This record gives sequence, structure tokens and C-alpha cells, in this order.
Amino acid sequence: MPGYEIIGKEELREIKDIFDNGGVLFRHGFDHLRNGIYKVNQFEKKFSKKMNTPYALAVTSGTAALRVALAAIEIKPKDEIITQSFTFVATVEAIIESRGIPIITEIDDTLNMDPKDFEKKITKNTKAVIVVHMLGTPARLDEIKKIAKKHKIFLIEDTAWGCGGKYNGIPLGNFGDIGTFSFDFAKTMTTGEGGMVIFKNKKLFNKAAAWHDHGHENNPKLPRWEDSRSSSGFNYRMNELQGAVGIAQLKKLDKVVKGQRKSAKKILSILKKYPLTLRKSPKGSKETFDSLVFFVSNPKLAIRCRNQLLSRGIGTKILPEALTWHFAGSWSHMPQLLKKYGKNIRKKFPKSYSYLNKAVSIPISMNYKNKLAKKINTALEKTFKKKI
Ligand SMILES: *Cc1c(COP(=O)(O)O)cnc(C)c1O
Repeated sequence: MPGYEIIGKEELREIKDIFDNGGVLFRHGFDHLRNGIYKVNQFEKKFSKKMNTPYALAVTSGTAALRVALAAIEIKPKDEIITQSFTFVATVEAIIESRGIPIITEIDDTLNMDPKDFEKKITKNTKAVIVVHMLGTPARLDEIKKIAKKHKIFLIEDTAWGCGGKYNGIPLGNFGDIGTFSFDFAKTMTTGEGGMVIFKNKKLFNKAAAWHDHGHENNPKLPRWEDSRSSSGFNYRMNELQGAVGIAQLKKLDKVVKGQRKSAKKILSILKKYPLTLRKSPKGSKETFDSLVFFVSNPKLAIRCRNQLLSRGIGTKILPEALTWHFAGSWSHMPQLLKKYGKNIRKKFPKSYSYLNKAVSIPISMNYKNKLAKKINTALEKTFKKKI
């Protein structure tokens, strides 16, 4: 959990800076009014530096970030985009919105994409894979990248939950061709609503930058109203208020991740005493520990654990209760998925379902109190007292 825990006067100061300098809320132009203040632009520069990548494009949400990423690689009819069964519904929505065909893989004990199933699902129409670092644990990036490279498929990382995490020393989001981020209010850093797309390749970046701005190429030789254009597009531009908050939040990112990791360590020492299995992290992972996930021996026990935690005022996050929004097997409301998987979609990902059913996720807060640790301990004690 997240940057909202330490949102405050630093963010306010950045916003005040806008109003002290003309109050221009649009990212482009109005140069004579704004005293050189371009918050979105500055946020992009700082973010790309932080992620050690040359190009970053700020957008209005994490969902928009995915949509813009897919616009950059130009989806044609029949193109298939592979993603994993355990993700937020937005990942598949972005594929559908891009006129791509969503193909879903199973997950493994990392609760992220199963590389073997990924390779099996590649066809001659596969254009890209969107791998997700669910709840802040990196996917098996080495294997997935190798497979994507072998089959000449774009690798996109949905880093909505991985912002500030690393894999083999590389910031998450910067492993593949494109990385997308969400700054909604529940994510590691927040701008209220907002997102970012990062690129290594200048051509992809230019395409995305134009597409997210109605096709504007922002040609420096032309005024905006006469701007050059080579594609159609849409409007997913971030505004200056979000950019200002982003600058302040980015400065706090390391602190948030460090705080979460510290809290997670404390909870891990409690979990050790009980007959449960921790979610697997690939070797070389530096997780963000948005939450801590473990498996118990059966679904009933997972529910009992949730109830024990809830009765002590500790919620669980997504698992085991909220699969509705985070498991493709539940999305029978999406005709584009049913076309491929049929009405019985729930049964199409048995391996994923059996992992998710037995998983419990404890949300991690930066400010972790010992009193809370005690409560978690008691909840677990009660959970495992009787066998089911
Ligand atoms: C939050 C989230 C998104 C969408 O981000 P928004 O900013 O809320 O639009 C996309 N993918 C995943 C995995 C997410 O958790």
C-alpha cells in the first residue's frame, strides 16, 4: 500500500508553485503565462531518470497507459495479445479497447504469468505479451523475456503494482519494450488518477506521445494549432495538477517501498510459525510488498483465515475474496473473452483458480505497529487451531 499514507505538504507546495506562476493547468503552451513551469514535463523527465530509461510519457490513468502502449505497437485485426489470468480487469479492457484479441495464460506459484503456458499460447498472430507484477512481486521476467524475444513478440510490463520494485537490479517496467504504471489512489505512488508509459525505443515513444494527444507531433517549428500529424489518436493527456503531485510523490517512492519492505519483514517473521507456504518470488526479485501473500492447504481455510483477520479489523486484499475483479475466469461480462473461452470461462484456468482459491493476501502499510503484528498472530493462531 501506498503513497497516500504520506501525502501532504510537499504535494501542496508543488501545486502552489503552479498557481504562483500563472495557474496554467495544461501541459503544453501558454508559455508567456507560466514562468517556465511545466510540471508534467518535469515529472516525465524525473520518472524516466528514476526508471533508468530514456523516454517516459505521462497519461491520465494506468488503464490509459496500457491503451497508449498498445496504440504504439499498432494492433491490426486478428492480432492476439497475451496476458495472465490473475490481473486487474483493466489489462484485458485495454486489449479489447485496442481491437486486439485477448489470450489468457495460467499463473504459477508466483501468482504471475506461467512462462510455459505463455509459450504454448503463442500463435502466428501473437503481437505482444502483457506481463503483470501482481501486488508488487516480479513475474518470471528472465524466462518470459527469452520466449518473447525468440518469437519476436513485444514485451509490455503492466507495472501498476510494481512501481519501485526491481528484478536483477533493473527497475520493474524497464525490462521489456514498454512499461506501464498506475498512479491511482491505491497504488505505491499516486496522483489521484494518473499513469505513465516508459519506452526504450524512440519511435515507439513518438508514436505513443502523438497518439495520446490526438495525433499532435508537437512540432517545435509550428504553433500547436498548425501542428503536424501522421496518425489519428485520442486524448489521454495528464494535467499540470497531477504532474505536480507526481513530482512530490516520486521523491517519496523509495521511502514508501522501504517502509513496506520493513513492515513485510515483521509480518514474515510471524508467518514462519504457521503451516502455510509463501508466494514464490523469482530469484533476483526486489518486491515492493504492496501486500504479502501466502497459501494455505485449502479454500475453506483461506476463508477462515480471512474471517479471523477481519474480526480483528485487518482486511485482506483481493485474496481470497475479491477474485471478481482480478481473475479472468470471473469475467463472463466480457463478450470478447467469451468468444474465445465460452460461457464456462471459470473452468478454463483450473491451475490459476486452485492457486488463487487457497491464497490469503495481507495488505502492507508503511507504518506498521506492533499491536497489529499481535493481532495477525492471534488471527493465524485461531485459523490453524482446528483442522478443516
Ligand atoms: C490499478 C491497475 C491498473 C489500472 O490503473 P488505473 O490507474 O486504476 O486505471 C491496471 N493494471 C493493474 C494490474 C492494476 O492493478
